[in-house]
Amino acid sequence: MTPETPFQPLFEPMQIGPVKAPNRFYQVPHCTGMGHALPQTLAAMRGMKAQGGWGVVCTEYCSIHPSSDDHPHPFASIWDEGDVRNLGLMTEQVHAHGALAGIELWHGGTFVSNLASRQATLGVRSMPSRTEPIQSQRMDMRDIRQLRQWHRAAALRAREAGFDIVYVYPTHGYLISEFMSRSLNQRNDAYGGSLENRLRLTRELIQETREAVGDRCAVAVRFSADGHGDEHLSAAEAHDAIGMLGALPDLWDVVVSDYYGLEMAGSRFAKEAALESKVAYVRQLTGKPVVSVGRFTSPDTMLRQVKSGVVDFIGAARPSIADPFLPTKIREGRYDDIRECIGCNICYAHNFRGSALRCTQNPTMGEEWRQGWHPERVPAGPNQSVLVVGAGPAGLEAAMVLGKRGFAVSLAEAGGEMGGRVSRESRLPGLAEWARVRDYRVGQINRMANVALYLGSRLSATEVQDFAADHVFIATGSRWRADGTGRTYAAGIANLEHARVFTPDDLMEGKIPQGRVTVFDDDHYYMGPVLALLLARSGAQVSYVTCEGQAGAWSHYTGEQEATHAGMLAAGIKIFVNTVVSSYVDRNLELSCVFSGNTSAHQADALVLVTSREPNDALYRALVGEDPDPGATSIDMIGDCAQPALIAHAVYAGHKAARELGGTPASGHLARDRLIV
Ligand code: ADP
Ligand code: SF4
Repeated sequence: MTPETPFQPLFEPMQIGPVKAPNRFYQVPHCTGMGHALPQTLAAMRGMKAQGGWGVVCTEYCSIHPSSDDHPHPFASIWDEGDVRNLGLMTEQVHAHGALAGIELWHGGTFVSNLASRQATLGVRSMPSRTEPIQSQRMDMRDIRQLRQWHRAAALRAREAGFDIVYVYPTHGYLISEFMSRSLNQRNDAYGGSLENRLRLTRELIQETREAVGDRCAVAVRFSADGHGDEHLSAAEAHDAIGMLGALPDLWDVVVSDYYGLEMAGSRFAKEAALESKVAYVRQLTGKPVVSVGRFTSPDTMLRQVKSGVVDFIGAARPSIADPFLPTKIREGRYDDIRECIGCNICYAHNFRGSALRCTQNPTMGEEWRQGWHPERVPAGPNQSVLVVGAGPAGLEAAMVLGKRGFAVSLAEAGGEMGGRVSRESRLPGLAEWARVRDYRVGQINRMANVALYLGSRLSATEVQDFAADHVFIATGSRWRADGTGRTYAAGIANLEHARVFTPDDLMEGKIPQGRVTVFDDDHYYMGPVLALLLARSGAQVSYVTCEGQAGAWSHYTGEQEATHAGMLAAGIKIFVNTVVSSYVDRNLELSCVFSGNTSAHQADALVLVTSREPNDALYRALVGEDPDPGATSIDMIGDCAQPALIAHAVYAGHKAARELGGTPASGHLARDRLIV
C-alpha cells in the first residue's frame, strides 16, 4: 500500500461474527450463468476476485433443495455431497488469497418453476408462477418443518464445503419473503397475520443456521431496507422488521425494493450510490456490520460510504466483474487503472440467457478457467510491429493488449477522436458511461511508449501495405443500413424515399429530423428507444414501431425493458407494437400488423431505420481478397467490421486476437467444463 493512501479505512480488517474479513471489499452474491453447471469455471472466476483483493467473495443464489430449481438459469446448488465437492473448489480458490467465502442459501418458492426437477413448487399460498402456467403448492406445517430441515442441512453442507459466511435470504420475492408479504401470506397459523408472525420463518432460519454452523461461520441476512412494495411489506414494516431481528445475524446485506429501477438498474436509469438514502439507517438500527451495493467504482465514494457510517463493507457485483482487481488498484494508488463498470448489464443478460457471465469492459470475465485468461496479465510477445486500423472498442482493446505484450503498435484512426461507436453512442441520452470503454483503454495506451496513435488517418489498402507492419488488424467497424434490411426484411424495404430516411449514424452525426418522425426498430435493443428519446427531446413528434410486443424488447434481458418503455411513454412517444413499416413514399407511411397483415396509413416527415448494420470490410477485402488462405496472411479483421454485434463482442474480439497473436494458432477447441462429482 502507498504510505500516504487516503483510502486506508477501506483496508481495515473487520470481524463478522466468528470470522474476520481482511478488508472492506465485499463481492455480494451475484448470478453468473455458471452455477451448478460450470463448477471449475465458477471457481476460477471467484478465485480471481479474491486474487484481485476482494475480502469477501460470495456465491450466487444457491438452492438448498430440488424443490427450488430455476432451470434453465444455471443457479448454484448445495443439494448433496457432489455439490459440496464442486463448491469446495470455489472456497479453496477464494481462501488461497486470504478472502472469506460466502454462500447465499436460497429457496425460490413460487418464483421458480422446477422445470428440471419436476417437483411441486412451494409457496406460502398456492399462487401462479410468473413464467409458466402452473401454481405453487401451499405449504402446511409439515412442509414448513421440512423446509427448516433442508435449510439446516444445507448450512451444514456449506460449512463442510468450506464457506465462512452463510446467508439466510428473505428477499427478492423468493420463498422466505413470500411469508413476509401481507398480501401473499393469508395464513391463520403462527406464520401469518402480525408482522412478528410473518417474520417467524426468517427468525427461525437465522437461529437454526447459527445453531448449526455459527461456531465457525458467520450468519448473514440479505434484506430489503425499504420492504417489498406496500402490498407485501411496506417501508415502515421493513424498518420494524430489521429492528426486531436487529442483532440476530452477524451481518446485514441490505438491498432495496426497486430491483430493476435502482439496485440492478443500468447506468441509463441510476447512477453510483443510488441506494444510499434508503439503506443508511440499517447500521444505526442493528449495530451489526452492514454491506450494500451501489455500482461503486469511485474510491472517493467508497471511502465516504464507510467513513460516514452508511456501510461497513463496500458491496459490489458489477464493479467486481468489470474489474476483479479494483481493490488492489486502490491499495496501490493505481486509480487510473480501474476498469470501471459502464452499467450496461450485459453481464446480467447472459445469465438470463442461461450462458456464462461476460462483461463489456472485462473480456477475460468467464474465461479464467476455460482459456486461462488473467484480467491483468498477458504473455510477452515477440519483437514485432503491428498496425491496427480503427480505434473503436475492438481496435483500442487490441492496441492496448498488444502494447502490454511489448509489440511495437501503430493505431490509425480515420476520425478526429478515439472510441469509434462508443464515443458516438456515449453522446446519446443516458449512455454517457459508455465512454468509459474508450477512456480506460486510451488512458492505458497513453502511458505506453510502444503504442503510437494517429488520429485523422483514414488508411487505404496501399497505405496499409506501404506501412509494412509484421501484422495488421483491421477494426474498421460498421455503418447502419439505410434500406431497411434487417430481421424483418432480408432484402430491405422497397421504394424508400431516401431523402426522408435517416439512420442512427445520421442522428449521431447531428442530422436530426424534425416534425413527425417515425422510428422503425428492427434491432430491439437500446438504439431505437434511445434515438426516439433524442428526437422527442429535440422537439420532434415521435412514433416508434416494433414487430416485438414491447419497446426495446431485448432489454428484457438486461433488466431495462420496463424503464425503457415507461420512459418513452413519459416522453410522449407513440408506441406501435407487433407492427412493421411496410412502405414509405412521399411522407406516406404504411404500417402492417405482424399477425393479421392489416395495414394502416400514417404521415411521417422522416423515417429513422434502426434495422441492421453493414460491416465496413472493404479495406480488409481489398487487402486479402475474397478467399484468403488461412495462415498465409498476417492480416486479420476484428470487431464490428467482421461481425456487427454488441460492444462486448468487439472488445472480446480485439482482446482475443491481440492475446493470441504470435502464439500457437488457435485450434478452435475450447476446454469444456463438466460436472466433476
Ligand atoms: P468496433 O466496434 O469494431 O471497434 P467501431 O465502428 O466502433 O468498430 O470503430 C471503427 C473505427 O474505425 C471508427 O472509429 C472509424 O472511424 C475507423 N475507421 C474506419 N475505416 C478506417 C480506415 N480506413 N482507416 C482508419 N480508421 C478507420
Ligand atoms: Fe458493468 Fe456492463 Fe461489465 Fe456488467 S457487463 S459488469 S454492467 S460493464
